[in-house]
Amino acid sequence: MTSLLIQDAEIQGEISQVRLRSGKITAIGPDLEPDPSESVMHARGGALLPGLQDHHIHLLALAAATESVPCGPPQINDQEALKRALKEHASNLQPAQWLRGVGYHESVNGELDRNRLDALIDSHPVRIQHRSGALWILNSRALAEITPASGIFPDGAEKDEQGRLTGRLYRADAWLRSQLGPRSLPPLSEVGQKLASFGVTGVCDATPANGQSELEAFARARASGALPQNLLLMGHTELPASPYPGIERGAVKYMLDENALPAEDDLIAQIKDAHGQGRGMAFHCVTRTELVIALNALERAGATAWDRIEHASITPPDLLDWLARLPIAVVTQPNFIFERGDAYTVSVESRDQPWLYRCAGFLHAGVPLAGGTDAPFGEPNPWAAMQAAVERRSASGTLLSLEEALSPEAALRLFQSPLGSPGRKSNSIQVGQPADLLLLKVPWSRARDRLDAADLQATWVDGQQIWNDGEELGQ
Ligand SMILES: [Zn+2]
Repeated sequence: MTSLLIQDAEIQGEISQVRLRSGKITAIGPDLEPDPSESVMHARGGALLPGLQDHHIHLLALAAATESVPCGPPQINDQEALKRALKEHASNLQPAQWLRGVGYHESVNGELDRNRLDALIDSHPVRIQHRSGALWILNSRALAEITPASGIFPDGAEKDEQGRLTGRLYRADAWLRSQLGPRSLPPLSEVGQKLASFGVTGVCDATPANGQSELEAFARARASGALPQNLLLMGHTELPASPYPGIERGAVKYMLDENALPAEDDLIAQIKDAHGQGRGMAFHCVTRTELVIALNALERAGATAWDRIEHASITPPDLLDWLARLPIAVVTQPNFIFERGDAYTVSVESRDQPWLYRCAGFLHAGVPLAGGTDAPFGEPNPWAAMQAAVERRSASGTLLSLEEALSPEAALRLFQSPLGSPGRKSNSIQVGQPADLLLLKVPWSRARDRLDAADLQATWVDGQQIWNDGEELGQ
């Protein structure tokens, strides 16, 4: 069995030696000596911490965003720039791999169709999404690949006067995804590595559409090593339980929308359904009204510790009291304070401004509180999110409810509870615990003042090193 001794690591302020063997922490002590057969890593006093858990992320959307070529303003403004960007991206792809573009606008190259797109690139199957989100444009190679045996395309597939497909598919996302099958799922290796570089060893994927095919895609990515993180998978009610190691089935995700609210009895029935499957219900709540609807339905259905509120973007005192009486957790995105804070100060009603993305208020009320970046809708760097939880500053420097600020230690804890019990007891470095760890280059007393991902030195999942910063790692 592979064995590693991490020497001179700082654990809760003390310098110690730590042995990782068979995926677990098997020994911790000031005087451990290396076994002849084991590798040694010199931590040089850097802090060894439990790996970070991103409690709310969308992996496939993040991978798609990472993998996609921007095809419109501001990055791409004319035909030549578009052609160059497509060719350059294609040069990194396997021969039959699909190229995915996003954000196309007519100002770049007019009404884009298969002919114009073929002229730009015909080496790979290509699909480009219009900026409106309502239209995909495919080149001829891509069209040929997804033509059904029946030859029948959906109504949204545009044809020219001769009855020939133009390559423009309107509102055909679901159909396109079903035709593409696994090809519609982007590779996850780049995302897996990026998260590992932040010390992330576990993620909860909060995508409501997750079902069997996504579960299988994640299982393949995990088995191949492309996605090294442990995974808690939320999804719809048909998402099967996971037979795969390192992947657990999570809550049923419910997107509440105050403009299209469901009937109360229907919602209660759905919560009971989720509970019947041994799952919680995770409510997307970004307004006051949505939080009221969720709390009321959860209370009436019988809230459990598996239920969660995602975002809880606006939580005034009366709703906080109500929430605190229920056994449910809140998963917040402190990074939005920085990333969207300036927009919030304009768009959010002034009476709601003090209750935006609270942190300390939840903790004082005893509500289990965990953090997630919501990437790709936020930046995937949990250290930046921690920094925002501490500083409560928008990108332009506006302070948002400084009384909601956390200490660096409390900010770190947002990302240290187990995936299955967000905001409850944090993971810790103890003998017998899984070796899901991160090592900093500096002691915590220095790291806490900057909360910077650049301080990361190495990351392990199940005792396997999944990332290091490329410097010399000892013998
Ligand atoms: Zn989300």
